[in-house]
Amino acid sequence: MPFRSLGLDANILKAVTEAGYTEPTPIQAAAIPQIIEGHDLIGIAQTGTGKTAAFTLPILSRLAASGAGKGGVKRTTRVLVLAPTRELVAQIEENVIAYAKHLPLRIAKIFGGVGERPQIQALRDGADIVIATPGRLIDLMGQRYGDFSKLDHLVLDEADRMLDMGFLPSIKRIINQLPKKRQTLMFSATLSKEIEALTHEFQHAPKTVQIGKRSNPAETVTQFVYEVPKHLKPSLLQHLLKDKAMDMVLVFTRMKHSADRVAKKLEHGGVKCATLHANRSQNQRLKALADFKSGAVRVLVATDIAARGIDVDGISHVVNYDFPMHSEDYVHRIGRTGRAQAIGDALSFVTSEDGAALRSLERFIGRGIVRKRAEGFDYNAEAPPPVPGEKPDRGDRPRGAGGGGGGFRGSSQGQNRGGGGGGQRSGGGGGGGRSGGRY
Ligand code: AMP
Repeated sequence: MPFRSLGLDANILKAVTEAGYTEPTPIQAAAIPQIIEGHDLIGIAQTGTGKTAAFTLPILSRLAASGAGKGGVKRTTRVLVLAPTRELVAQIEENVIAYAKHLPLRIAKIFGGVGERPQIQALRDGADIVIATPGRLIDLMGQRYGDFSKLDHLVLDEADRMLDMGFLPSIKRIINQLPKKRQTLMFSATLSKEIEALTHEFQHAPKTVQIGKRSNPAETVTQFVYEVPKHLKPSLLQHLLKDKAMDMVLVFTRMKHSADRVAKKLEHGGVKCATLHANRSQNQRLKALADFKSGAVRVLVATDIAARGIDVDGISHVVNYDFPMHSEDYVHRIGRTGRAQAIGDALSFVTSEDGAALRSLERFIGRGIVRKRAEGFDYNAEAPPPVPGEKPDRGDRPRGAGGGGGGFRGSSQGQNRGGGGGGQRSGGGGGGGRSGGRY
């Protein structure tokens, strides 16, 4: 099916061709006509399948049809896109700029960790499209910056995260200040029935577009589990990294301090790496991502702040150094590889503490994950000596975290494709400095 048949404005089609897209992805083919018709929509599709364009292209098309941007000097915001992390906001903005290049629209990005002034100025100048994380937007709205009184389109990207307990109060505060008559779109790779029930508070008779099954990991990612004693996780990572095929590796830890510790060990062992977590300044976060994208470092060690939406070409492997507490996080983490039909591997380290979380994940995705043993690795070795300056391990599991206890139960062999039931996350951290700022 060509893009032409979706009813998009000529200026958008031109930008899409210039982006090199020849045909819409399934989520785009299904969602774009519905959004152009004006329906509220819940869009569920795997990570990396073009969701950003699925909501941006039809919205831009509708703005173009209504002559947006051609008016006088004073403009009000017509579109608000909310996303959970600064990196995701920046990435969505890059996409929107590319798709809107032939339209006279002003686009502003709003997020914390950087100075308010340019953002205030952008709102004062009248931004047609605002892309924001909730925290800073609430601050600026509270100071009466921005005019959202004529807003037409609201998008919640990574909607399940935006509506979980951490973000929900902020989302409600923002939405209360928007016109009731608007188009509201929610997109995510995972959306539990419980969260979907919440969406009805904010949407009017939404259509649902679902590609694949809910909670489906990307089909293009091959998944393996490595059962390993906790004290040998650093050595196992070093050992696996001897494989040159692991050339662009995203390593996830649960906590900020463990990200730093893992990175320090890798650097000590001669592996170039960067870290991305909420304790780093915005400039450090941007540099870490830029160095990873450019290949200046081979490994990026990150907390779940990097799990959502981040689109970096060519990630060969995702390593779950610490097993994720929530199954949804697993799906999002491994979705950082295997994007746009590329292939990738997801390797998860599982200690005896993670048995319950692994079983719960396998129920969630509806399949067992293949167990693998690293060739030539000594599973009976002593813990490696600490690297100079290393602090003692205080334990990575936050208090009260689920999924603990229990050893391994039966190594379920088999294919790891397929989907499964819903599943509700409880709390969880994110870019908004929640859950005690774990990320
Ligand atoms: P997203 O899921 O929005 O993060 O997009 C994943 C990747 O797919 C991005 O690098 C997009 O540029 C790319 N992409 C989006 N739509 C298309 C398309 N129709 N054809 C080819 N690539 C696309």
